[in-house]
Amino acid sequence: MTIRRAVYPGSFDPAHYGHIDITTRAARTFDEVIVAVYDKPAKQLLFTVDERVAMLREALKDITNVRVAPFSGLLVHYVREVGAFAIVRGLRVFSDFELEFRMALANRRLAPEIDVINFIADEKHLHISSSTVREIASLGGDVSSMVPPAIEAALIAKFSDPNRDGAGTNYVVSLPD
Ligand code: ADP
Repeated sequence: MTIRRAVYPGSFDPAHYGHIDITTRAARTFDEVIVAVYDKPAKQLLFTVDERVAMLREALKDITNVRVAPFSGLLVHYVREVGAFAIVRGLRVFSDFELEFRMALANRRLAPEIDVINFIADEKHLHISSSTVREIASLGGDVSSMVPPAIEAALIAKFSDPNRDGAGTNYVVSLPD
């Protein structure tokens, strides 16, 4: 029997309940979901890839058919390498649509055998983005309704670390994510 495997790629800097919801729903749809954490996305990162992977593993540990792994390079190469046939992405607001549509068409051109499947964000999580979470946490705000407790603790630790990259300067916020 062929395993119906999907890859859910993202920066997850950090993961939040919106990501967890998409993963949970994808895990009900596919036999196996690999949550693939971009090693070096073209954006300024708060957490290292190892930290982002570890936080996601902890948050998703109860879903038995989900695996979390770092990845680098071209997404469709990774999807082929792991024997998946679908790319999962979440869609929040209309503004996500144009970018996701363009990426899906580009990926289709590169790998027509791989389909992109978009899950519409749950309305409870529509407003959550990693950049919002980082911005609120950097200012000492309460993010407990947006991220699991271990990720909230990691954010507090990160922003209170005086040796953190960028500490002492205003964290650059509202980057697209
Ligand atoms: P990327 O750098 O690939 O945009 P993100 O970590 O920001 O990585 O997002 C990964 C995926 O999760 C994207 O498909 C994004 O649209 C989706 N996503 C982000 N926030 C939410 C949310 N609140 N609800 C549902 N999906 C979301």
